[in-house]
Amino acid sequence: MGQATSIDIPGGAIPVAYEADVVVVGAGPGGFAAALQAARMGADVILVEKFDMPGGVHTSGLQGAANEGVGGIHSELMARFASEGHIYIANEKTHPNWAGNPLSHYERGKAVGSAFTRMTFNPEGAGCVMVDMLYEAGVNALYGTAFIDCIVEPGTGNNSIRAVVVENADGRFAIGGRIFIEGSGTGQLAARAGAPFVPGGGPQPEGAHWDGIKRPIPGGLLWTMSGVNFQNLVRHQEQANDPLLEKVIAEARAADDLPDGLYRPRMDGKAVYGDSYIGHPTVDMSPMAAAGTYVLWQNAPYDMALRMDSDGRDQATATRLLRGFVNAEAKFLKKYVPGFEDASIASVGRFVGVRDGRHPVGEHVFCLDDVRAGRQFRDAVTKPMTKTFFWDGYRPYTFEVSFKSFLPKLIDNLILTGASLSFTYETIFMVMRNFPWCTQTGEIAGFAAARCIAKKIRPKDLDWREPYF
Ligand SMILES: Cc1cc2nc3c(=O)[nH]c(=O)nc-3n(C[C@H](O)[C@H](O)[C@H](O)COP(=O)(O)OP(=O)(O)OC[C@H]3O[C@@H](n4cnc5c(N)ncnc54)[C@H](O)[C@@H]3O)c2cc1C
Repeated sequence: MGQATSIDIPGGAIPVAYEADVVVVGAGPGGFAAALQAARMGADVILVEKFDMPGGVHTSGLQGAANEGVGGIHSELMARFASEGHIYIANEKTHPNWAGNPLSHYERGKAVGSAFTRMTFNPEGAGCVMVDMLYEAGVNALYGTAFIDCIVEPGTGNNSIRAVVVENADGRFAIGGRIFIEGSGTGQLAARAGAPFVPGGGPQPEGAHWDGIKRPIPGGLLWTMSGVNFQNLVRHQEQANDPLLEKVIAEARAADDLPDGLYRPRMDGKAVYGDSYIGHPTVDMSPMAAAGTYVLWQNAPYDMALRMDSDGRDQATATRLLRGFVNAEAKFLKKYVPGFEDASIASVGRFVGVRDGRHPVGEHVFCLDDVRAGRQFRDAVTKPMTKTFFWDGYRPYTFEVSFKSFLPKLIDNLILTGASLSFTYETIFMVMRNFPWCTQTGEIAGFAAARCIAKKIRPKDLDWREPYF
């Protein structure tokens, strides 16, 4: 933040409105599962969430991509979303011509017309279910409550968080706790507590073109359109021989109906993150939530290196730019693209999601070497996982994650979850950013916190010997 002057604010004490065993900041997949698990194990839990529902990127951010359950709370979530009618399944019967369609975000690489199954949950419905689940477990969830700061004291060995400072309709107050859980998705609590971290952004995949600027993997704004007639769209693609909508895009550009940057090139040939997230040369969409409803992507321009996690002006720029693109894209689709005449914007994510924010430095930092060497850990939190990873050319690797990657350096009573776990930038695409894994990390953190409360020990003294999953 560039500031020329400063101003004194009235100091003094603020009320400690709550004391709890476990205080969780942020209710994304990580924070949600942590709070739920700790409460189910008998801990007294307070959860602080700035929006009106849990789920983070996957509800407030509209990323409703559902996966098969991976066990524990993640499987429970998927089953409950389904039983409450919030899962939508698209396949080759509902969407003939979708697999292999170049507009399809997920299925464009498949053989044309092949079988596929795409499962999504309705973000708003999912958020309602998650609110219920926290309530049923006895979590004291404070929605509309922003984490602002924390109070750190000398602890046994390192420092310890005494309380977090938050603000909501009651004003500003503190919440005291014994164990704290980082669920902000961007390492905010860890950073405020003085734990070391590495900012997002790093070198490009090995051997790729790189101009020396460390740009984070761009964040993005998701939005949905309802009332889309997919068959009419396909008819246009086929009859006008316009599979990528390049003809209608050119027409709109000639009429000055498309702002610069709306359809950005993919940076082909530069091997930037395997060309993911960099730009959309055309419409990029996926069926979601209901027949005729699609989610669309607007990613922050890569070149601008915007850091929404740590720079308020970048956050404002990204929001303005991407909201503008959403509006322009919707107008373009309705005016120029058959199948969209009766479509309208149904929703826009409540925030521009961050893909590559702060990476707290833990007692162990999960890194490429762990993966390449197939390193095993005595305190592995899961049985070995096998994932395909593009950094080395889409190779499958089998690896483990140490509990030490949940424990930030310098702070005694903080446990990390989700996108704020300790890992290097290059490993984001292994598994680190995935919704199922982020939920699993939360469950592991909640389990660890409740154990520590029961045993009256620090997370760093927990003798972790068996995989949780
Ligand atoms: C645009 C985008 C698309 C993605 N697509 C996919 C996908 O298709 N599949 C997949 O598996 N993963 C996807 N991911 C990755 C995945 O969504 C994240 O890695 C995951 O949501 C991280 O979970 P989390 O709980 O750590 O944080 P988040 O989901 O970011 O949740 C953090 C929560 O903390 C709250 N919070 C933040 N700051 C404060 C504060 N100061 N006070 C109070 N509350 C606060 C937020 O409101 C939010 O609810 C995507 C991510 C982005 C950004």
